[in-house]
Amino acid sequence: MQSEMQLLKRYDSVLERIQTACLKSGRKTDDVKLLAVTKYALAQDIYTLLTNRKVPFIAESRLQESLIKWGQPPLSALKPIKFFIGQLQSNKIAKILTDFDIICSIDSLKLAQRINTQSEKLAKAATCLLQIKLTQKQTQGGVSMGEAAKLIADIRQQCPAVKLAGIMAIAPQTGDAEQLRPLFKEVKKFFDDNFEQDAYLSLGMSEDFEVAVQEGSNLPRIGSAIFG
Ligand SMILES: *Cc1c(COP(=O)(O)O)cnc(C)c1O
Repeated sequence: MQSEMQLLKRYDSVLERIQTACLKSGRKTDDVKLLAVTKYALAQDIYTLLTNRKVPFIAESRLQESLIKWGQPPLSALKPIKFFIGQLQSNKIAKILTDFDIICSIDSLKLAQRINTQSEKLAKAATCLLQIKLTQKQTQGGVSMGEAAKLIADIRQQCPAVKLAGIMAIAPQTGDAEQLRPLFKEVKKFFDDNFEQDAYLSLGMSEDFEVAVQEGSNLPRIGSAIFG
């Protein structure tokens, strides 16, 4: 556990940096929501943050760990809107659908069809983001930008219970966020061509969220810059 004050200060400073990035690029600060990534954070720290600040959304990537963490006190008393940002395994989809509000990592028609089937069983529409792959890393999920438009069309046509609500992408680690600007611009253009303005464009993490927000991200996902 860390001092509550340090934690809240780091959170406030991330919010300020988002606001500054909005001002610099002429965007309304209200249009950008912070997705607090709690996957590595201690339950007590998450509790402190959520009970002291209006945190709109949280994100987890590991199903089992998150079920345990959020299923017992103190976090079981809180009901934030939860995003699943991990890679999807088809045998866990029913559980993820039950426990999470938004799934951020659809990257194939097969997964979308599985989600569609489970959603229909649960009689609950599945709000999902399409994960676009921006790196060459074998282990990283996502569909390439070249294949994404076709996948979006297929999902919209074949998976009525899947509500595609936007895009999520993880940028390559460069050590210099400025280098990512052209890539973020490219994703924003793709987003504009394929989604309504009020859809989610989730770009940017602790290392690169200011550039991502300047280039149009409306849902930066931030873990370590908040929780250390
Ligand atoms: C862990 C994670 C993040 C947050 O990363 P930080 O660098 O700690 O901000 C964002 N998005 C995804 C998909 C993640 O897995």
